Amino acid sequence: MLLDSNLSEAKEGKRISAKGYAVSHKSDTFKPYEFSRHALGEKDILIEILYAGICHSDIHSARSEWKEGIYPMVPGHEIAGKVVAVGSKVSKFKIGDYAGVGCMVNSCGECEACKASNEQYCERGMVATYDCYDYFHNNEPTFGGYSNNIVVSENFAVTVPKDAPLEKVAPLLCAGITTYAPLKFSQVKPGDKIAVAGFGGLGMMAVKYAVQMGAEVYVFARNKKKEQDALTMGAKKLYDSTDSKVVRERFDLIISTIPTPYNIADYLKLLKLGGEMGIVGLPPTEVEPKIGAAGLIFNAHKKVYGSLIGGMKETQEMLDFSLKHKIYPETEIISASQINEAYENLTSGRARFRYVIDMGTLE
Ligand SMILES: [Zn+2]
Ligand SMILES: [Zn+2]
Repeated sequence: MLLDSNLSEAKEGKRISAKGYAVSHKSDTFKPYEFSRHALGEKDILIEILYAGICHSDIHSARSEWKEGIYPMVPGHEIAGKVVAVGSKVSKFKIGDYAGVGCMVNSCGECEACKASNEQYCERGMVATYDCYDYFHNNEPTFGGYSNNIVVSENFAVTVPKDAPLEKVAPLLCAGITTYAPLKFSQVKPGDKIAVAGFGGLGMMAVKYAVQMGAEVYVFARNKKKEQDALTMGAKKLYDSTDSKVVRERFDLIISTIPTPYNIADYLKLLKLGGEMGIVGLPPTEVEPKIGAAGLIFNAHKKVYGSLIGGMKETQEMLDFSLKHKIYPETEIISASQINEAYENLTSGRARFRYVIDMGTLE
């Protein structure tokens, strides 16, 4: 819930007080945490956060599994809420609109990547929504969505229509764009044969988008338990990932969402000549999959690339596409006090759906 004082703070150009849940070191559990955000700039909006998704990257970040984290850390980069204050030069939003914020809150705005709305590949580095030093605001650390509000440049918020299911919009801002972007980058067209490797939250989104784009979609999963889910989503077939060595199908594109160790070359073999493999799943650093010169040469004339979320223009396009075709992640709403439990379930593989925190439950 928004603090009463926030609106006057915004109006008076003061720092915005906020509260949420934070960890104070990498093996800590989440505890209530009070902090403040930078004042509302002329191009900024203040959003009352209504829903925040829990992404697996939040866990990697909170536990310093990719890099040493900045603590105290308030994770959360799948944010949906209501605009409650706008800076004097804001043109895209007015008070009462719904807005979403994903993995970044700013970028240099001047480099070639930024000019092409590939802000995530900014040459100076994007300012990530949390666990990052904000070079626009005296290098203060950024705090994410497990909280009651966020102040963000309007250029880094997407517009959300009033009738959209906000609790489903939140996770689209990471899981959705992460899988939508490589499908667009590889220019998927009707009839293309696509395999999605890894069938967790990201894999499911990739399948739904690829099916909607008219592709013939196949899934590789750790076991066949989720076969019916895959078929219901429109996939042609689900293979056990150990089948990758014997499968005879050849694909135009493979999207790997696998978050655990695997052999990239096993999948390259399954591409048609000229085919592409887009990697979006990121296992912890010490078990990262690798491919050597031989793996590339003996799979010649196939392309492997990585893909990191998407630019702001593309994120808006993804959201509009998802709402139009009702493509949403499977979600489970939890209260703010259940974050620790959700992390345990996610780590042990017990979580079935994407957890979304109802921020109205924050006390
Ligand atoms: Zn994420
Ligand atoms: Zn830039």
